[in-house]
Amino acid sequence: MSETKHPKEIISLLRNSFDSGKTKPVEYRIQQIKNLRRLYVENQEKMIQALASDLHKSRQESIVMELQFNMYDLDNILANIIEWVKPETPQKTIVNLLDKLSIYNDPYGVVLVIGAWNYPFQLLLSPVAGAIAAGNCVILKPSELAVACSKLIAELIPKYLDPDCYQIYTGGPKETTLLLKEKFDYIFFTGSPSVGKIIHKAAAENLTPVTLELGGKSPVYIDNSVDLEIAVKRILWGKFTNAGQTCVAPDYILCSKEVERKFVEVSDKVLKQWYGDDPSKSPDFGRIITDAHFQRITKFLSNGTVAIGGKTISSERYISPTILIDVNPSDLVMLDEIFGPVLPIVNINNLYDAINFINKRDKPLAMYVFSRRKKDINLLIQNTSCGGIAVNDTIMHLTVDTLPFGGVGNSGMGNYHGKYTFDTFTHKKSCLYKDMGYIGEKLGESRYPPFNDTKIAF
Ligand code: NAD
Repeated sequence: MSETKHPKEIISLLRNSFDSGKTKPVEYRIQQIKNLRRLYVENQEKMIQALASDLHKSRQESIVMELQFNMYDLDNILANIIEWVKPETPQKTIVNLLDKLSIYNDPYGVVLVIGAWNYPFQLLLSPVAGAIAAGNCVILKPSELAVACSKLIAELIPKYLDPDCYQIYTGGPKETTLLLKEKFDYIFFTGSPSVGKIIHKAAAENLTPVTLELGGKSPVYIDNSVDLEIAVKRILWGKFTNAGQTCVAPDYILCSKEVERKFVEVSDKVLKQWYGDDPSKSPDFGRIITDAHFQRITKFLSNGTVAIGGKTISSERYISPTILIDVNPSDLVMLDEIFGPVLPIVNINNLYDAINFINKRDKPLAMYVFSRRKKDINLLIQNTSCGGIAVNDTIMHLTVDTLPFGGVGNSGMGNYHGKYTFDTFTHKKSCLYKDMGYIGEKLGESRYPPFNDTKIAF
């Protein structure tokens, strides 16, 4: 499904609007952010229904993970935007005592935001809010795979945001390829590392700066010092929310055989408490987005030994919460990001094994360490590289908007959330206002020829 307008036409419209200065006044940006907030307030039920239709997301999960998350984001922008847009005044050195230094927060211009399907509202509209706050014109490209959400976004955006400056463009790889032939001033992409490379290459043609919010295999390390009842709940919640289709979901566990035994025992109890004896009947457990994704994930079920779960219903794209043991590092399930409700456990002997295991693989988007041993926690943090870490929890680090959220290496580049989103869509334009007085000129005249040995400093 594609817009009738060609990308060239849309970009030309947005570029004219940007050049007219329409998005520059902060009052205009505030109004658009308020409109976006109203979109959430007035369409909450429709959004919850669309999420249920695409992903069988529960009402509670939709409200907390999609709607409240973005509402909080918008309120934070409204509370701080006046401060954020002001030029910054950096410290002066002795050489510049008579001058004025400013850093202007310039919008880039016309930016493209490409979203993923797993949190279809949050992952598109949260960066878009930052792009609007920073004064850019925006093309929004939702993921075609979240069919109902994409349709709803396409219907709502023109009703709430100024169409001169914000345009929706729908479609899949074919349409996005067409879009990427055009020149943008910034591209913000959320999705897989493989498509991230396509985006990066296309952006390089025009030296367009990018943020790539990608994925990867986020490991969990647990030792025997923790309260397993708590650790299991926090890990399983992170894993089975949205049926494992979360970019920072724990991908696999590294622990000893002893911890594994207890982990499986407690998990069995917790999963029954949460989803009952048959999770396919639970309103709180999600479904896999498409048949192709379902087929890909079910292949993992033949790896290792199924300790819990392993059931599927293909007509519903249902895969039960599954824990695999006796998994080998070379098994299929350990090669690519799982992005589904399957949690393999790989046994290691100690912390150093865990560090080596993590460092032999691509840098993950997130990493989780469950331990009471401060020294071990610090060793792991200091000797591994990843996008971000939560100690004794999963996923929650990305709800803290004073922490930048983003990947490193194969899990992405750049970051956002809170003020970081505003900064992502802002070019920091430096400006030196030079003093024209006699003293200032005298202090700086050693830069002019003819040079001699006494003229060494500006
Ligand atoms: P994807 O890469 O398949 O698709 C993302 C976007 O790219 C979609 O809008 C899609 O239409 C577009 N696209 C797909 N193929 C394309 C092509 N060949 N050329 C141009 N555009 C194309 O990713 P997905 O399946 O939507 O999401 C899953 C991946 O995203 C996982 O790896 C997950 O970890 C990652 N993810 C990361 C974050 C994060 O914040 N870092 C959040 C959610 C998902």
